[in-house]
Amino acid sequence: MTDSIFTKINKREIPSNIIYEDDLVFAFEDINPVSPIHYLIVPKKQIPTMNDVQEDDKNLLGHILITAGKIAKEKGIAEDGYRLVINCNKGAGQTVFHIHCHLLGGRLFNWPPG
Ligand code: AMP
Repeated sequence: MTDSIFTKINKREIPSNIIYEDDLVFAFEDINPVSPIHYLIVPKKQIPTMNDVQEDDKNLLGHILITAGKIAKEKGIAEDGYRLVINCNKGAGQTVFHIHCHLLGGRLFNWPPG
């Protein structure tokens, strides 16, 4: 598998504003934010889509969500509310084929999403 753009960010081959990192995941500012706060939480393991997730990835997926919640608290958006989004495949708008969780906050969000 060739390195995704996010793996290249993790390897510091592409510049990015990384705000969090641990053994399993890293998080950085989205280059094209759709809300005042827009971070991507990404597993270091390069999994192309949610369709490729295995039972063994249970801990990793839980860690992504828990990390997103911690970042939301740190950034002061937890009380007002925030949205977590994982797009799967082109029909849902996925453009980078390395799973990632969008953390969106700082404004009101409509439901259902567009
Ligand atoms: P998705 O459409 O769910 O696959 O989301 C991919 C996201 O990655 C989009 O919101 C892009 O703006 C973002 N993105 C793409 N390239 C970069 C980059 N080099 N640095 C930060 N965010 C990026």
